[in-house]
Amino acid sequence: SSAVAEPAAPGALEVLHRVFGYDSFRGPQQDIVEHVVGGGDALVLMPTGGGKSLCYQVPSLVRDGVGIVVSPLIALMQDQVDALTELGVRAGFLNSTQDAGQRRAVEAAFLNGELDLLYLAPERLRVESTLSLLDKGDISLFAIDEAHCVAQWGHDFRPDYLALSMLHERWPDVPRIALTATATEATRGEIATRLDLTRARHFVASFDRPNIQYRIVGKSDPKRQLLNLLRTEHPGDAGIVYCLSRSSVEKTADFLSQNGIPAVPYHAGLDAETRAAHQSRFLREDGLVVVATIAFGMGIDKPDVRFVAHLDLPKSVEGYYQETGRAGRDGLPSTAWLAYGLQDVVQQRKMINNSEGDDAHRRRLGAHLDSMLALCETVECRRVQLLAYFGQDGEPCGNCDTCLNPPESWDGTIAAQKLLSTVYRLLHERRQKFGAGHVVDILLGKRNDKVQQFRHDELTVFGVGADLKEAEWRGVVRQLLAQGLLAVEGDYGTLVLTEASGAVLSREREVRLRREPEKAAKEPKQAK
Ligand code: ADP
Ligand code: ZN
Repeated sequence: SSAVAEPAAPGALEVLHRVFGYDSFRGPQQDIVEHVVGGGDALVLMPTGGGKSLCYQVPSLVRDGVGIVVSPLIALMQDQVDALTELGVRAGFLNSTQDAGQRRAVEAAFLNGELDLLYLAPERLRVESTLSLLDKGDISLFAIDEAHCVAQWGHDFRPDYLALSMLHERWPDVPRIALTATATEATRGEIATRLDLTRARHFVASFDRPNIQYRIVGKSDPKRQLLNLLRTEHPGDAGIVYCLSRSSVEKTADFLSQNGIPAVPYHAGLDAETRAAHQSRFLREDGLVVVATIAFGMGIDKPDVRFVAHLDLPKSVEGYYQETGRAGRDGLPSTAWLAYGLQDVVQQRKMINNSEGDDAHRRRLGAHLDSMLALCETVECRRVQLLAYFGQDGEPCGNCDTCLNPPESWDGTIAAQKLLSTVYRLLHERRQKFGAGHVVDILLGKRNDKVQQFRHDELTVFGVGADLKEAEWRGVVRQLLAQGLLAVEGDYGTLVLTEASGAVLSREREVRLRREPEKAAKEPKQAK
């Protein structure tokens, strides 16, 4: 014991008050911070907006040395560093957007002990010069942000993340904290294994977002349906509209603007300047709508996004959850609205069939799509289904569309048999394959040009489906595709049978279907 007391290291709570100006930690933040300050490894699962940043920023300030933050979000690093600098935190970053001079300045600051936090793009850590730079400094912790990027099973895999397992080998005494907003139990296991975090403590925050109203509606005229939603429920509100393609982003943004709703496009085909301008308008202005591909939104911290709309089906539940999670970070009521139809299923299956990569990769994409389709076709509470996907329990929310307007289900076995046997007969009697539209025309008994040209009015199944309407048949096709009882093939999305189809045709298997709403565009009653 020395006569002169060492200055006490600042406590976590003190840093939270003094530096960040917050009264208290939120949810599991305090436990996480204490664990990491104490030198433990952590795997943190927290939904978007839950407050992951503080989980590594506070320990970086409490512990000696520099906190190294690995993040794939290069475009956001400047903003993050600016925000920290404003709080008096000494932060810098190293990524490919800098010139050699800028990089040297940051490296010097790091070596001189003039940084509290250093943000790095993952590819930097594959460069030996970065590693030897880190060797020469004093590191307080490694934070691995967007840790799901290491999971090949996930939807956002980045090969550079695989190299991060060497952090532990090279710096065994430096605590690591991996953070993600999106991981099923399987993905979590994969993150732990690949990052060599098997002995890390897991912290799992709740994924429930009670202020978000989840709604998935039948797609008929999606731009009109969207306009209707915005005019009736979200006039003057800020929101994000997601589309799959750049061209539909452009068309939708034009359509909204022409109809008096301020909207700007955002996609990877726009130059960096335009993208940055649209993003900063969205953050600063009230009531602007951004129409975007999924390129938009990672790390966007705007609290009052009142709605997130999807005009096309997301590729996975994780993506859907992350995108819808950008709504209502302020805790106020918000809408997550998705328009979904037969064409979405056909298109996504086609994209998977044509995707690059091996069969295992295609199977993974298929499994992700299946989970998303199950969410769309469920007759149960959407929120319960979402939480269950992330391995968490919940009670029916009383707020989503299926809670407010419980959908009916019906015995679709006979309808399914009619449809599958039409596909079967086309294939076996005619050696022909057709898309959904034509098959439905045959079932309905429509004598149009194409039917007559191929003499499909002579098939025994011609007209056997006149008891259902066209929209209902499209619903049957969509749901059989979703259930894997039917498949699409090739560039034209022709219908073919699957292994599971046989059991339906031979009457060994019943098929439960969700009843199509009277009007596809019909909206649920509003929650009080
Ligand atoms: P995530 O990275 O999990 O999406 P952020 O770390 O960006 O979330 O935090 C989301 C928002 O919540 C930020 O505006 C942040 O300042 C705020 N926040 C986080 N923790 C707290 C806290 N303990 N008290 C008050 N605000 C907080
Ligand atoms: Zn519900």
